[in-house]
Amino acid sequence: MAGIERYVAPTTLEEAAGILRTGNVTVLAGGTDLMPQTHAGRLQFQPVLMNVRRVPELSGIANQGTVVRIGALVTITELLESALVHERLNLLWQACDHFASDQIRNAATIGGNVCNASPAGDTLIPLLALNARAVLAAKPNGTLQLRRVPLTEFFLGPGRSCRAPPELLTAVEVPLPPAGFAGEFYKHGTRPGLDIAAISIAFGARRDGQLLRDVRLAFGAVAPTPVRAPRTEAALEGQPLDAAKLEAAAGIALEEVQPISDLRASDWYRRELIHNMLKRVITHVHQL
Ligand SMILES: Cc1cc2nc3c(=O)[nH]c(=O)nc-3n(C[C@H](O)[C@H](O)[C@H](O)COP(=O)(O)OP(=O)(O)OC[C@H]3O[C@@H](n4cnc5c(N)ncnc54)[C@H](O)[C@@H]3O)c2cc1C
Repeated sequence: MAGIERYVAPTTLEEAAGILRTGNVTVLAGGTDLMPQTHAGRLQFQPVLMNVRRVPELSGIANQGTVVRIGALVTITELLESALVHERLNLLWQACDHFASDQIRNAATIGGNVCNASPAGDTLIPLLALNARAVLAAKPNGTLQLRRVPLTEFFLGPGRSCRAPPELLTAVEVPLPPAGFAGEFYKHGTRPGLDIAAISIAFGARRDGQLLRDVRLAFGAVAPTPVRAPRTEAALEGQPLDAAKLEAAAGIALEEVQPISDLRASDWYRRELIHNMLKRVITHVHQL
């Protein structure tokens, strides 16, 4: 492949971080973004192609008490097959259920989805709503160091994140939501399972009688990055739900997004979708 001078496949995190430190490295996980992007000329390979699939520290889904640690190499299929994700992080599970086809799900990793930083990346929207953080590893002085970045601060623009080139994403940590927390993921595309989202919504909350508590809301494909909607969350927090509150929340949500027109949908259509589908999603969660 054009531009590649050396292929490496480290077998430890120490080794992988050491290679990244030398610079000019392209990280390869499932390759489902990397290969189409390089073939289309949108991305150039660096001289060193580093396949990280043999690094064991990047694997596995584990309940660590207050957080679920999801290794960067965990595939969409593995997330769908995880009882822990299905039962405790159901918003993320639903997003995986709307993700591409079986073939892509078998190769695509959560780490690749996060590092690709698409405003429409399907796992990013529930991960944002679930207060997830990225765990990044690097060896700046020859010693392995980890830093944790909340996903609300991780994304900087389409395809851009605060991950520095010498950093490897090792995992995503997702705090366990409170007992009784329920949510719904909604994705609109021409073919919802096999299409990039025109918009997506992740909404979650806990019912307390007629009130909604711990309200979380995130949107995909309506801004340069996936976004949380804190003002809409605040308008719903601790409130009983009625038609007026729903309408007001949808109105605030429209002020919190900046959709564009592109080949998937016009700005106007995206706004209509947000306005109508958000009300539906909130109503569903309130009825759970
Ligand atoms: C046909 C098709 C359908 C698709 N459908 C969907 C869909 O429905 N929803 C959706 O969200 N996406 C979809 N995608 C996009 C893609 O599958 C996902 O973004 C996927 O999660 C990328 O993961 P990957 O392991 O293949 O990443 P790769 O392609 O290997 O890597 C993606 C980027 O992240 C970097 N990277 C990967 N892992 C790490 C790491 N651990 N540390 C640092 N950098 C890293 C790579 O260098 C590269 O820049 C689709 C792609 C195709 C080709």
